[in-house]
Amino acid sequence: KRRQLVVGNWKMNGNQQSNAELLAKVVAGWQGEHNAEVVVCPPNPYLLPTFEKISGSPIFLGAQNLSQYDSGAYTGEVSAKMLGELHCKFVIIGHNERRRLQGETDAQVAQKFIAAQRENLIPILCVGESSAQRENGQHLEVIGAQLQAVFDQVGLDVFKNAVVAYEPVWAVGTGKTATPQQAEEVHRFIRTRLGDLAEEVRILYGGSVKASNAEQLFAIPDIDGALLGGASLDAEEFLKICKAA
Ligand code: 13P
Repeated sequence: KRRQLVVGNWKMNGNQQSNAELLAKVVAGWQGEHNAEVVVCPPNPYLLPTFEKISGSPIFLGAQNLSQYDSGAYTGEVSAKMLGELHCKFVIIGHNERRRLQGETDAQVAQKFIAAQRENLIPILCVGESSAQRENGQHLEVIGAQLQAVFDQVGLDVFKNAVVAYEPVWAVGTGKTATPQQAEEVHRFIRTRLGDLAEEVRILYGGSVKASNAEQLFAIPDIDGALLGGASLDAEEFLKICKAA
């Protein structure tokens, strides 16, 4: 049985004070045993202070990105080893904001996936279609190609220790959530593509998940949790979603 997973992607938000307030509330509200595994992914400068605040709680630390390289002349980049030293357990890879705004290619995404696994970080591989691709009925084709690009480089076996997140670009930060039917179709499709590992790999949904729609999404058997943006910045909202998972 797959354990539910809720990941808070803070993106480039917060400051020392707001983070401390948010984490104090989240840690207080998430003690003991729960169904879901919970991860917070702050911006890199806050990784260590975040770790200090969550240590002793059942909350894990994740990063939002990493370099595909181990070290060298890559100004501004951060390696998997560095993230590991800062106690990260998870790392988001191929988020659509990085694909679109930083021009990350499928090939780079695959390299980053490999770099993460080399250091025993669990990659959360993001895939998803744009609104134009959805309107043209190309969503499954696009998602299939994004997955295949990684499978070609790493093989399927390594997905045993990975997570996939379906984030339709048109649903991220827009308040428009995929309908349960739309999400279900894609999650089933991704699962099928995972072959022998289909029943083992966790597949998260992301895109305007809120406390008000989380339960409906989590009721779908192929949805194993959520990748949250905005909702992860509000302790009460975040905890409600963690509890619904
Ligand atoms: P929102 O939840 O703000 O739509 O963001 C989703 C997301 O991109 C998480 O990675």
